[in-house]
Amino acid sequence: MQRDYRTGNEKVGEVLDILERNYPDATTELKHRSPFQLLIATILSAQTTDRQVNKVTPELFRKFPGPADIAEAPVEEIENMIRTCGCYRSKAKNIKEACGILMERYNGKVPSTVEELMELPGVGRKTANVVASNAFGVAAIAVDTHVFRVSNRIGLVKASDVHKTEEQLMDNIPGEKWSRAHHWLIHHGRRVCKARKPLCHKCPLTHLCDYYQKLVKSSGD
Ligand code: SF4
Repeated sequence: MQRDYRTGNEKVGEVLDILERNYPDATTELKHRSPFQLLIATILSAQTTDRQVNKVTPELFRKFPGPADIAEAPVEEIENMIRTCGCYRSKAKNIKEACGILMERYNGKVPSTVEELMELPGVGRKTANVVASNAFGVAAIAVDTHVFRVSNRIGLVKASDVHKTEEQLMDNIPGEKWSRAHHWLIHHGRRVCKARKPLCHKCPLTHLCDYYQKLVKSSGD
């Protein structure tokens, strides 16, 4: 297959158009009904799957409907309910403390800025971006393992870590598309551009993808 030699911006634009056509309804897969539920679910999702989080959150939110309930709960009780989500001791401690801060500083509400969110225990930049973008419509690109891998493989960025990936994506993608691009890249990473074995034969981006073009070139050497 011939390499499509376009300028950087043309390539980014075409990649995004193709991803949008393929994943028009892409959104977070974490089930939630409020910014509070999304915050807790996103903290729980570190180093585990959204599916696993979705198994525990209905019962967790039934028992603890709001931040006051989690803030006052014995930490062992929270641990027992989230045990299958990995790192459950630190996650239970973090969500209890985060809920305490929501009650003390924010009258039980979740703050909407990335900076305020990052002050909560268990909330790093990725989690803050996910919550700000999905719950409050703040333009942000949360870079998780899928966004990092897919962006670098395609060549949307050339970055050695998630922070540089976020910066370069924000430079290369128009602001009004940041939040949706995050979901498109995650969906593509989960369904097609898988970590161990990307399904390039099913991918509509081969003519634009640096990784694929290198594969084709090396197989012809
Ligand atoms: S062509 Fe292969 S490596 Fe490139 S984005 Fe598609 S699946 Fe990923």
